[in-house]
Amino acid sequence: MLNLIPKPVYAKEGNGRFVLPDNAAVYSEIDLPLIKNKGAEDSCIKIFKDANLAKEEYYLTINDNGVLIKASDAAGAYYALQSVRMLGRLDEGKNELPFVEIKDKPKYSWRGLSLDESRHFFGKENVKKYLDDMFRLKLNVFHWHLTDDQGWRIEIKKYPLLTEIGSKRAYTHLGGWHCYRIENKEYGGYYTQEDIREIVEYAAQRCISILPEIDVPAHFAAALASYPELACRNIKRDVFGGFGGIVFTKNKIFDWNRPCCMGKKSSLDFIFDVYDEACSLFPFEYFHVGGDECDFSEWKKCPDCQRVMKENGFTNEQQLQQKLTNELCVFLKKKGKKMLAWNDILKKGYENIDKDVVVQQWLPGQDKNTVAFAQNGGKILMSNHKSFYFDMTYAQYPLKNTYDFSPKKYKIENEECLIGIEAQVWTEWIRTFDKVQFMAHPRMEALAETAWTPDCEKDFKDFLGRYEGYKSVYASLGINFAADEICMPKNRIKRSYIVRKFFRGNPDYEFNENNRLKETKK
Ligand SMILES: [Zn+2]
Repeated sequence: MLNLIPKPVYAKEGNGRFVLPDNAAVYSEIDLPLIKNKGAEDSCIKIFKDANLAKEEYYLTINDNGVLIKASDAAGAYYALQSVRMLGRLDEGKNELPFVEIKDKPKYSWRGLSLDESRHFFGKENVKKYLDDMFRLKLNVFHWHLTDDQGWRIEIKKYPLLTEIGSKRAYTHLGGWHCYRIENKEYGGYYTQEDIREIVEYAAQRCISILPEIDVPAHFAAALASYPELACRNIKRDVFGGFGGIVFTKNKIFDWNRPCCMGKKSSLDFIFDVYDEACSLFPFEYFHVGGDECDFSEWKKCPDCQRVMKENGFTNEQQLQQKLTNELCVFLKKKGKKMLAWNDILKKGYENIDKDVVVQQWLPGQDKNTVAFAQNGGKILMSNHKSFYFDMTYAQYPLKNTYDFSPKKYKIENEECLIGIEAQVWTEWIRTFDKVQFMAHPRMEALAETAWTPDCEKDFKDFLGRYEGYKSVYASLGINFAADEICMPKNRIKRSYIVRKFFRGNPDYEFNENNRLKETKK
């Protein structure tokens, strides 16, 4: 069995092994800046450019003559080298490559993974590690959630208070969504524009595009804490330290996602100014505007919002949000960008939404609006909750949920409308990067295979067999991952106990247990 995830489209093993010499040189007709040891045409690793191959596609043979690779672009060449790296277990200091012939290319052109750095902030070096993990598994879009109620993490020069005030919160909610424990300790962090350029460049070298998300008009409390005049009512607010819209006051008031005012010109100017600066930092042709979970209660009471509704003949506040969605779409188009938004923007129908918007479907079940949008020419990115919400416990969503994803279950039958799949790592209950890795591995491997390998070649048992080889590689690279007992839990009673704890009391139950298991195995 070849030790490769994602499983290649075609692979034929031969008899024999090629021993890679120390510091093997690489001859390449394709410019590959990450290759340190470049050699002449007689090098034992040769990469030839073949314009007949598609983007990201590669051809790889390993035999007595060494390693031969063909690709049409850097991504294809690097992916072939990643396969070589894994086949030879080079990260473990090994050097024997099995004879093999591989022809390989991805199923989807969008193979994404997100990281929420608003709820918790992990910093530049960890983001680079995350990108390395994605690159190893041939994932190619990093969705970076940079703003939310609990912290603004991207420097915007025109609005310095966004990071001066908005990047810090005074307290943090602990213990799960249905728990009211708090930690009274300042928490903060943000990326300067220079940091962002560095990370964008680091990702680009690894053939990963960065999709920034600046969530509007809701999930906006950090911006409102910095500039209260952007809200419908100009009142002083803190950056939220509560998760799930819970505000900690004496009376435990439930207060969900107060949005930006849609009636004041200055508020809308703010959004466009921020997008203008952010667009210049991210070369990717897509930009995520969020658009999810907007509460309309402030807009209903706001004279400015109501005036705009009247002027436009709107009968509900959803139309007011649709107006913003379409204006953002036009704005981004002028910048040569396509817009992504969560499927929430399709509430009350898809008809008024610009067909160039890509809708990211996150709901656990089928969504009739998403299906209708797709059937009428709209494009969809699938991030179904049950398969791709990696922040949820393995007890609730075991590993197989990710592996078994099929768009057909969600009535996205027409592959033309599906641009790809993407998993989400929200971080309300993930305070360390060690835990990010724990939640993501081995789900990320299942995501990679689901996004890459044709359905007819997929088999969960076979996948688990191949994954065995990754465990020692990850151990030697210091990458945390969930043990089999944790990511494929069997005991139903224990599973429901873990899920209950996750919401009320201890969201780290599995993580702690995994650490205990690692200790006992030592
Ligand atoms: Zn308003």
